[in-house]
Amino acid sequence: MSSLKKIKNKKILIVGAGPVGCTVAQILSKKSFKIRIIDSRNHIAGNCYDYKNEHGVLVHKYGPHYFRTNSKKILKYLSQFTKWIPGKYFVNAYVDKQYFDFPINLNTINKFFKKNLTSKQAKKFLQKISIKNKKKKNFETFLKSRIGKKLYENFYKNYTIKQWGIKPNFISESIAKRIPIRLDKKKDYIEANYKFMPKYGFTKMFKKMILHKNISLNLNRKYKFSNKDLKKYNFILYTGPIDAFFNYKYGRLGWRSLRFKFETYKKKYHQHCLQINFPNDYKFTRKVEYKHVTMQKSKYTTISKEFPKSSGDPYYPISTKKDKKVLKIYQRYQNEYEKRNLFFAGRLAEYKYINTDQAIEIGINTANKIIKKNIN
Ligand SMILES: Cc1cc2nc3c(=O)[nH]c(=O)nc-3n(C[C@H](O)[C@H](O)[C@H](O)COP(=O)(O)OP(=O)(O)OC[C@H]3O[C@@H](n4cnc5c(N)ncnc54)[C@H](O)[C@@H]3O)c2cc1C
Repeated sequence: MSSLKKIKNKKILIVGAGPVGCTVAQILSKKSFKIRIIDSRNHIAGNCYDYKNEHGVLVHKYGPHYFRTNSKKILKYLSQFTKWIPGKYFVNAYVDKQYFDFPINLNTINKFFKKNLTSKQAKKFLQKISIKNKKKKNFETFLKSRIGKKLYENFYKNYTIKQWGIKPNFISESIAKRIPIRLDKKKDYIEANYKFMPKYGFTKMFKKMILHKNISLNLNRKYKFSNKDLKKYNFILYTGPIDAFFNYKYGRLGWRSLRFKFETYKKKYHQHCLQINFPNDYKFTRKVEYKHVTMQKSKYTTISKEFPKSSGDPYYPISTKKDKKVLKIYQRYQNEYEKRNLFFAGRLAEYKYINTDQAIEIGINTANKIIKKNIN
């Protein structure tokens, strides 16, 4: 039998219409799989969902999404479904009633310390003010060893406490290692080979991906696993939370959540740049004005304020030692299911923070895994 015949009309259930689910559906639809996607929400695109609000302003429901990737392959893949506009991601931090470039760069250092250092001098200066602590290794000690007490306390300490709800000395230094400290004047929030936003928004891009006669979509439907589904479908892809799949049998995994407060103003722009971080003032962490990245023309503008909280929708995995232990147990069972053609993929199922380009890559790899398994 030819490999294509083997695939024809095979049924797959995809739980979750997020980036991973949509990518897998798109690739398998071209291979004649019959695909059913279900999502508990009333929309597709997962956390990348964007929509026009009552004033016609395009906003991101689950927090701002700035698309970037280092992978030409991912950009090429997504370019089948969207045109792009340049991603201009500029961020400021509001400290002591002043705006500073963020992440910290040469301008930030000079303005904060009222100096006029060159890159070389700034390097020496940071070395002079840095505080080494060889005994303790955590978020706080790592940053202090790079930028000293003053910059750490003004730009990172309180932001981190707000964001995670715990003291920074309880946070792993691996998170601090990802923070760029620049000695040039580059203002880009993110460094990546390709920084673009989908011209008509993320939701439209994902909608185009799953527009195919082989794909059916059921929204507002929460999936609960039943063994019967292993008979009903040749394959299942689950992109929901791993602990929920197993009915929290071995415990719940910890997530940090967010509340978004949207405000609309009848004016072209409300703030001077895309995102302003508030490490020391207010209960919210950042204020984002979407029009700076969507480039939308409108007489209205909408901003969102982000309030971190400990319960609610899962956004950032906390990954304590206990979480890691519980995750390992679920992963053991997960492997057993994979042998029975039930796959787990995506940020919720893998319990890890991933950017959208990584989610697309996971989707491409998972689809290829399913195709390979079906042929063998
Ligand atoms: C605040 C925030 C900001 C972010 N900013 C960026 C950014 O700037 N740039 C970037 O590249 N990435 C960003 N991301 C990451 C991006 O959101 C993720 O990479 C992407 O959404 C992951 O895709 P996914 O398919 O794995 O999961 P999701 O997008 O979470 O999709 C999973 C879907 O599964 C559904 N589901 C779950 N359980 C069930 C169930 N039992 N039954 C039915 N449906 C179910 C959910 O409703 C959801 O729609 C950000 C994430 C957050 C939290």
